[in-house]
Amino acid sequence: MKTATRSSLGKKSLLAAALGLLLLTGLTTKPGSAEERAKDLFGAAKLPTVTAPQSFGFYSKGCFAGGVALPMDGMNWEVMRPSRNRRWGHPAMIALIQKLSRDAASDGWPGLLIGDISQPRGGPMLSGHASHQIGLDADIWLTPMPDRKLTPSERENISATLMVDEKTHLVNDALWKPMHTRLLKRAASYPEVERILVNPGIKKKLCDTVTGDRSWLRKIRPFWGHDYHFHVRIGCQPGSPACKGQEAIPADDGCGKPLAWWFTQEPWRPNKNPDAPKARDLMTMANLPKQCQFVLDAPGPESAEAATYRGDAVAVAAPEPEAPSPPATTASGTAGLPGAVNAFTTPEVGVPVPRPRPPAN
Ligand SMILES: [Zn+2]
Repeated sequence: MKTATRSSLGKKSLLAAALGLLLLTGLTTKPGSAEERAKDLFGAAKLPTVTAPQSFGFYSKGCFAGGVALPMDGMNWEVMRPSRNRRWGHPAMIALIQKLSRDAASDGWPGLLIGDISQPRGGPMLSGHASHQIGLDADIWLTPMPDRKLTPSERENISATLMVDEKTHLVNDALWKPMHTRLLKRAASYPEVERILVNPGIKKKLCDTVTGDRSWLRKIRPFWGHDYHFHVRIGCQPGSPACKGQEAIPADDGCGKPLAWWFTQEPWRPNKNPDAPKARDLMTMANLPKQCQFVLDAPGPESAEAATYRGDAVAVAAPEPEAPSPPATTASGTAGLPGAVNAFTTPEVGVPVPRPRPPAN
């Protein structure tokens, strides 16, 4: 951005920017600069806003308010790479992960290992994904959860399983199990899930092997990477008028010509300019929806614990320790947020119960 733009900023927006910086922790860059990279500002936000959930902008260019954290463990999931602090999402996304973890378990998948969802207030990330910015994307490993609680060190260090041969771009048949197909089918079955990104080899495997109902295959979209994990994207949620949805996917199963393209040379040619800056390296606050400045500036909860999603109840604050309310157990899914105010009584959730070790692992 040119300096002319910077000097044309009104006092009010400078003040707002400065206020936002004060509210952030761990920030080392100078305050108030319109040239400041959005990824540094959003990457430094440790906690979400305490406001109604709302997504602003697009999956790869936006932010969100009212985020909640997926608990580190559930009966059927464990959060991986917790040091990245990317277990935050729109409550609808977090609820969906919990629902998928239960349904997948009943389908025979031993539990979900959860990769990146979003930063607490979304926005561009310091590293990794271009999307995941509005709280509506989540990465889930194609490796089943082991039958024990992983240690903090294991969560940071163990590797997911590479499912695809990097030369042929075909699935490794020794690794791919029917339960992988069932997991993707289950994830695609939810109306709020609009797309599931997988490596083209995985899409091809499904195209070649799924019999019976193939209608869900249209949601399974081939994309680079996604050979250790799959990526679940839900649509813009009610209450987010400034959320920009993605164009509708084609009605067919996507197993024809568009998939064949992935098995040509073209998508795999080396990047001619690998050192060119990525969008996230250039994006400033001026490139994001204007609401994102307010998202940065808004106050946060006292702790991550206070904004952790507990089933259908979200603990937002903790004013009355002597009269805690129990977690709500009625109502399903994403409605009725924020829920009960109960940062205190929620028991330690998610010590996984022993179960047979999965054959795939
Ligand atoms: Zn992803």
